[in-house]
Amino acid sequence: TPAIRPLVAGNWKMHGMGQSLAELRAIATGLSSDLAQRLDAVICVPATLLSRATDALVSEAVSLGGQDCHVKESGAHTGDISAAMLKEAGASHVIVGHSERRTDHHETDALVRAKTEAAWNAGLVAIVCVGETAAERQEGRTLDVIGRQLRGSLPDNVRSDTTVIAYEPVWAIGTGQTPTAEDVEKVHAFMRGELIARYGSEGARLRLLYGGSVKPANAVELLGISNVDGALVGGASLKAADFLAICEAY
Ligand code: PEP
Repeated sequence: TPAIRPLVAGNWKMHGMGQSLAELRAIATGLSSDLAQRLDAVICVPATLLSRATDALVSEAVSLGGQDCHVKESGAHTGDISAAMLKEAGASHVIVGHSERRTDHHETDALVRAKTEAAWNAGLVAIVCVGETAAERQEGRTLDVIGRQLRGSLPDNVRSDTTVIAYEPVWAIGTGQTPTAEDVEKVHAFMRGELIARYGSEGARLRLLYGGSVKPANAVELLGISNVDGALVGGASLKAADFLAICEAY
């Protein structure tokens, strides 16, 4: 298996007014050159902060991302934001298919797939999220659900430099609960197998992030699991000290 450079991604969700730019700056200054040599870091801020975040960044160790994009480049879609707009505002990444989007906005696998292509077309790296609900897990359907979401949410021409996969069990997001290391390992090994079957060597190189209540206290264990190539971090990405402590797991 090829060595994969880890990615630690933060998702600020609908948090972060102007004063949060200080946290962003603290993350950028706190990422020692040593750490920045070992991993990539990206913070997905609310779109309203992107331009100011670009100006505020003191180092190139941190990249910026959006949290969603529309499938079209422009048009009559009130309230939506295109991938090209995110790119222009300073983003290099965009999260697509986060479970909160799938739930709150009824996003389907087919829509997530179209958004992934829209991200690529704008020159953004798509961070594509999948994950089972508590009920699906209890019914023993976790791998079925993840397999279906991967097949439906990913286009055919996935490349490892334009796409990142995030496994985020819905019941672990923002709850403080996490799967056991054995469970994470099982899902990530399954995803790796599916991705290699579909994409060959690119599938072997894709970065597979774990997300769901990653904290400084559990980062070493979760990030040490095989086929876990980084983390998608919600709550703990809002505080520079916590985000940096998670990065220190590498
Ligand atoms: C997320 O929003 O993607 C997430 C994983 O949140 P948290 O880390 O707060 O569980």
